Amino acid sequence: MLQAVGKETGQVTAVPSGQQTEREICVRCVMDTTDPDITFDEQGVCSHCRQFDLVYKPVLERAASKEGPARLATLVDKIKAQGVGKDYDCIIGISGGVDSTYVAWKVKELGLRPLAVHFDSGWNSELAVANIENLVKRLGFDLHTFVVDWEEMADLQLAFFKASLANCDIPTDHGFLAVLYHTAAKYGIKTFISGGNIATESILPQAWGYNASDLRHIRAIHRRFGRVPLRSYPTLSFFQRYFWFPVVKGFREVRLLNYLPYNKNDAKELISRELDWRDYGGKHYESIFTRFFQAYYLPQKFGFDKRKAHLSSLIVSGQTTREEALQELNKPTAPFDLMERDKEFVARKMGITVTQFDAILSQLPKSYRDYPSNERLFILKNQIMNFVRSKAE
Ligand SMILES: [Zn+2]
Repeated sequence: MLQAVGKETGQVTAVPSGQQTEREICVRCVMDTTDPDITFDEQGVCSHCRQFDLVYKPVLERAASKEGPARLATLVDKIKAQGVGKDYDCIIGISGGVDSTYVAWKVKELGLRPLAVHFDSGWNSELAVANIENLVKRLGFDLHTFVVDWEEMADLQLAFFKASLANCDIPTDHGFLAVLYHTAAKYGIKTFISGGNIATESILPQAWGYNASDLRHIRAIHRRFGRVPLRSYPTLSFFQRYFWFPVVKGFREVRLLNYLPYNKNDAKELISRELDWRDYGGKHYESIFTRFFQAYYLPQKFGFDKRKAHLSSLIVSGQTTREEALQELNKPTAPFDLMERDKEFVARKMGITVTQFDAILSQLPKSYRDYPSNERLFILKNQIMNFVRSKAE
């Protein structure tokens, strides 16, 4: 991808996105000023790297230290104890991607008894379906698949495009999370083991992917741009997620991968060998919608290339080098003809023509801050949780 980079002289030069001037890009990772909130210190190190060193690095070091295995064993014992006498002791989400597939394998290895849940948003690739079927068969897990009402889902996704927002994955991510919580409650399960992790996902600018938990934001977008009433689309409010489920029902989310050394390449190799898992050729490309969204929509409309965040996360956790990452970024996000095909496919499936879709896509980009949200409430929640954590340590 070529993009214009302004120089101090005011001259504009087209350079490949991976070879920007030192002023534009972090000297340690590959995050750059396409994140509007990024800042650099005097050495040229970005705010994401500083945040990693301060907050996330100690967690990775603890997982890799001598006390790591003992902490993991204590956690597993606790989950098992809470599941005694029940059909399942934990719930896991299966998307077909690397992280959730590896979590499933690890959970089995640790002797846990999960209920696996899949959120069928209507966009799964055939390969994703095959990977999920393989996993469930090989590991012998019960799978609960929630098939979303297509009319509601397509309308909600189209509403996010009409709102000109960067995070059009929110309807899928929110629905999946809500299904996990409500299914766990139905079976009396106390632990949700998620695939979220620091080793491969510590860096993601807020501007590129606003919080999918924010139901107020979703409702506001739907009210303004949606047509189909949301009758069966699963939702989870702030109150439910941060009070009702954890405080009243004793339900908690566990990021298992933060308790062990997690390496993406090793994980891929293992799940390919053990579970016949096959690669999609890009992070989150298991869904055609997400492939279109990350490889076409975000770079073209906003100049956001999510590979930069993903590769930067791998650089700071020591899983790739900056040079390798820059080389990777010089490649296109996906082949041009595939992206055009995906765009047509996405438009048709959402029930509009390519011309209508092009008109929506060509509107000026907006920020999530242009619409109502509970951002302040989430910031306050994070401050309180950080305070409680610091007192506990
Ligand atoms: Zn950096």
